[in-house]
Amino acid sequence: MALGLRAAQFAGPITLVGAEPHLPYERPQLSKEVLSDPDWSLQFIKPEDEWRTAEIDLRMGCAVVDADPAARTVALAGGEELSYDHLVLATGTIARQCGELAGLTVPIHVARTLEDAAAIRERLTLGGKILIVGGGIIGLEVAAAASKACDVTVIEAGSRLFERGVPPEAASYLEQLHAKNGVRFRYGVRPVSASGHEVTLSDGSVESADLVIVGIGVEPPRGIAAMIGLPEDTPGLRVDEHAVTERSNVLAVGDATEQFSRCHNRWMRIETWANANQQAATAVSTITGSPLSSTPPPWFWSNQYDVNLQVVGDSIGDETVVRGDPDSGRYSVISLRGGEIVGGTTINSAKDMAALRRLVGLGVHLDRSALEDPTYKLKQAIPA
Ligand code: NAP
Repeated sequence: MALGLRAAQFAGPITLVGAEPHLPYERPQLSKEVLSDPDWSLQFIKPEDEWRTAEIDLRMGCAVVDADPAARTVALAGGEELSYDHLVLATGTIARQCGELAGLTVPIHVARTLEDAAAIRERLTLGGKILIVGGGIIGLEVAAAASKACDVTVIEAGSRLFERGVPPEAASYLEQLHAKNGVRFRYGVRPVSASGHEVTLSDGSVESADLVIVGIGVEPPRGIAAMIGLPEDTPGLRVDEHAVTERSNVLAVGDATEQFSRCHNRWMRIETWANANQQAATAVSTITGSPLSSTPPPWFWSNQYDVNLQVVGDSIGDETVVRGDPDSGRYSVISLRGGEIVGGTTINSAKDMAALRRLVGLGVHLDRSALEDPTYKLKQAIPA
């Protein structure tokens, strides 16, 4: 966002305050390359001298502890006060912890920061039994990396994998893919207590582990809404289509925001890298007054083993159509609401995804027979 402001010729002073001690980095690498690429080395968004050249004042390892939107000031942990014309909250979220695991004596990690991912990477090389709590996107990406050297079990509270993110057809495909790689799944159970290296689950069964990784979702940092005088009991910082919060001089972008998603037809947090970038571009246009042409539908990707999964829009809808043969390892699941294409999930099908990312949100209806036919090119349906 700071770099986007400079690219849009914003000439005023910019201060970037971040609680983590490192130069800014992107998180997708944490549950992907950091865990599975033996040659991985950390990629920062820009080296330090480029931030300096862009005249962006970096305050890393420095938390904002309070804000006064009326006075247009923020207070830093060390006691310093900064004033502003525009305040942008781009905090991201924090990983939920699982209090029921408190009695464990083996290491427990979430996978949210560079330190978390580096510690998991190191621990995975030792092998042993890994228990992953949560069968969402973090759980699956970590399971794919961990299964190379470890004996992996995933504990999922719901009745299937990644219920929030992919349709049932894709969830069962992913389950088989992981099972082929030795991963074991337990559904409909959650930890209720733990002691030593054992976790007791809600059905009374016990799982033992040498390492536990928790991926049970995220939430906005505590106190962030109250800091700008808004109620805390909402799922996120609600923003309009200009990335402006309910405090008119405070903008917010990224995972901690709640926005109206047209393809889902509801308010929600869209916790993806692409959304954070899109909202940052929106916030730049709000500050600089330069118009933004359109807002693409939510999209994310994941790599697990040799499978590239991509999801756009509301991947569940009220009806789904499978396109292609799942056994071929290359297919798509298209979701519809009232016959309109509202989302899609692709497995190793980048061409379908390229078309779906342009189709979702345009009110396009297509015959089921065309959608099911992999020889029909979806891009033909994109309105001129
Ligand atoms: P998630 O995708 O919301 O999945 C969490 C899963 O854990 C859900 O299936 C949830 O089930 C289950 N769960 C919740 N409480 C549980 C409990 N006590 N015991 C067992 N299962 C439980 O969250 P996540 O996997 O932690 O991912 C967090 C965030 O990481 C995402 O929101 C995203 O921002 C980011 N991320 C994105 C990518 C990507 O885009 N490729 C990759 C990695 C991470 P219920 O739904 O039934 O509660």
